[in-house]
Amino acid sequence: MSVPKKIEGLLESVSGSLDKLDELERTYNAARGNLTAELASYLDQLAAASAEANSQAVRAQIVRKLYWNEKISAELLGEAFKLKTHTLIKVAGPLVLSLRCPNGCGNTVNREFRSRLELKNYYGGDYTSRIPCDECQRKAEAEREAEEVAKRQRNLELQGLPWEHFTETEEWRELRNNVLHVSGYACDVCQAKGVGLFVYLGQDTPQNYPHFSRSEYLYHVLCGGCVSVCEHLINPKKGEYIKAEFVKIIRDVLHQGVYSEDAMYV
Ligand SMILES: [Zn+2]
Ligand SMILES: [Zn+2]
Repeated sequence: MSVPKKIEGLLESVSGSLDKLDELERTYNAARGNLTAELASYLDQLAAASAEANSQAVRAQIVRKLYWNEKISAELLGEAFKLKTHTLIKVAGPLVLSLRCPNGCGNTVNREFRSRLELKNYYGGDYTSRIPCDECQRKAEAEREAEEVAKRQRNLELQGLPWEHFTETEEWRELRNNVLHVSGYACDVCQAKGVGLFVYLGQDTPQNYPHFSRSEYLYHVLCGGCVSVCEHLINPKKGEYIKAEFVKIIRDVLHQGVYSEDAMYV
């Protein structure tokens, strides 16, 4: 089978371009090698000159200047000054940069970088190292504290509500819906589904689930027929009956994984 002339020509052009690219890379590498050798020689001379100066301070100053110039490889520098990487880092000393607060508040933050790697990570998007300014940190801390106080306050409020008012709170509805979800929308005892269900608090379970509590509290999902066999487990005064149609709504909404106001206010 003969290949059309046009295609043959184009294929030749492709390999021609590839050859040129290879050639360019060789030339580049050779030139880079030469220049690196030249740089290394200057660095050696600098190292020798700074040794002649016979001053640790001068030497440290030069090392510092060169180390924090990221175009010079640390390896090359270490070789010239006969320093191992960790000593090189130590002699160079940390770099302190005045950076903008990552929160965008307009303040500046003095940030110390101990090595070029740290600096690289910082600019490479290591967000854990982006520390906000003191003012932003104080603000965030105050906000956390205020939230904590509000939560405790709400907790006390919930504890003090009469049961019938408590069952109207968002907190209870969320908890109750979750309890139903975990029970598979079925009676814990006979597994009946598609029926109206009671959600009862266990005997020792407090009315609300304090957000800071680590205790395991118990809730019981029971159909009307099974309540009597569980009397020893439940707090008979603290239960809510959810009609079958509402159980279904809660199930549909939670199964879709969508948080819905409808489910919250059943
Ligand atoms: Zn700030
Ligand atoms: Zn049952």
